[in-house]
Amino acid sequence: MVSLRDFLASCRKEGDFLSIEEELSTEYEISAVMRALDGGPVLCFEKVRGHEDFKVIANLCNRRRLLKALGVKDVVSAYRKLMEAKEKPSEPEVVDSGPWEEVEPDLTRLPVLKHYEGDAGPYITSAVISAKSPDGSVENVSVHRLLVFDGRKMAIRLVPRHLYRLWQMAREEGHDLGIGIAIGVHPAVILASTTPVPFGVSEFYVANTLLNGQLKLVECEEVDARVPSEAEIVIEGRLKAYETAPEGPLVDITGTYDAVRQQPVVEVLKIWIREEPYYHAILPGGLEHRLFMGFPREAEVWKAVSQVVPSVKAVNLTPGGCGWLHAAIAIEKNVDGDAKNAILAAFSAHPSLKHVVVVDPDIDIYDPEQVEWAIATRFQADEDLVVIRNVRGSTLDPSADQETGLTTKVGLDATVPLGRDRKAFEKASIPVSQEVRELLRRLGPWRKG
Ligand code: MN
Repeated sequence: MVSLRDFLASCRKEGDFLSIEEELSTEYEISAVMRALDGGPVLCFEKVRGHEDFKVIANLCNRRRLLKALGVKDVVSAYRKLMEAKEKPSEPEVVDSGPWEEVEPDLTRLPVLKHYEGDAGPYITSAVISAKSPDGSVENVSVHRLLVFDGRKMAIRLVPRHLYRLWQMAREEGHDLGIGIAIGVHPAVILASTTPVPFGVSEFYVANTLLNGQLKLVECEEVDARVPSEAEIVIEGRLKAYETAPEGPLVDITGTYDAVRQQPVVEVLKIWIREEPYYHAILPGGLEHRLFMGFPREAEVWKAVSQVVPSVKAVNLTPGGCGWLHAAIAIEKNVDGDAKNAILAAFSAHPSLKHVVVVDPDIDIYDPEQVEWAIATRFQADEDLVVIRNVRGSTLDPSADQETGLTTKVGLDATVPLGRDRKAFEKASIPVSQEVRELLRRLGPWRKG
């Protein structure tokens, strides 16, 4: 099961899939539904105005479906699997061709969404982009947002990481950089592409290990780049050596608008699509965006904290913290300093992290109310607070110094002090009989407040 289609079929079978039959516009209408149902079932927009041949897929992954995509039952197994794939990347098989038909190279045929009122224009948000160094020795795969200007041109946001470095290498030789863009791939391929590995390690190799050696690649025709053979849409293009354009604003993981910057232009050479193609849209600032970006960092935090304390039950880069800036960590501690060591390890594992709360294993770290309760009943600021001034944080946080990236980091040890009587800190419980359990099930779900 290595294609988006197989994954969708499996979600549909499990009832974790919602078809929307109403015809909707790519401008705001689809994104408004995506936002209202953020984190819920997979959404399939069956009728897209002006793009009858495409279906738009959204909400592809929430936390549960990400575990499903990795073929694991619990989050710690997912962290382990991701870490193992980073340590043992494996070479994917290359096949001659994919299931595509070549179409006119016109981006306006694709159902690219305009998500928010202040966005610069329609943005492709799920593009898995691959490229190679001029000598072909290094392959890099990463996810970038693409602002569509017209049928043949886009602007790409390039932070100074690996694709940027490949672009620089091509520029030094006076060349454009050929890129392969895949839209509509298995979630594990996206996750591998957002997982930090050293320059020189191909994220396709990480994806192949995550997919148990099942990933297959196809060589592009016009450029020296490869794409997953099961992708729904493939764009071959050139990252122009010398042409730039204003890129932004677009909503980032914080849910606020990112700045406008001069960024490289991508010229489209060829477009290939599958029969009845699915276009995958990721809502900027939505849960899926935060999960794909944050989950690999969560795994890093889990690994680092596991090395300094006896047992880490779970790590949550919380939705309220944009899936990036806040972590809640549940640990089993042996000695009272453990929680503070966990705080320091978490900050070093994920440099963008700003606030960390460490709790005992009886606290459900996916429930913000429980985490707050732990702070209310188990935390004393004069003893349990760690403040680190003037460290590098994330410029995605508008309150950080935007010039220097400096920020103040805070850790809270909200675990019960070991010397105290544990009973005074326990959550009170009410015994539930079988009859009452059934009654409660009949009464159904409810909301507080
Ligand atoms: Mn890379």
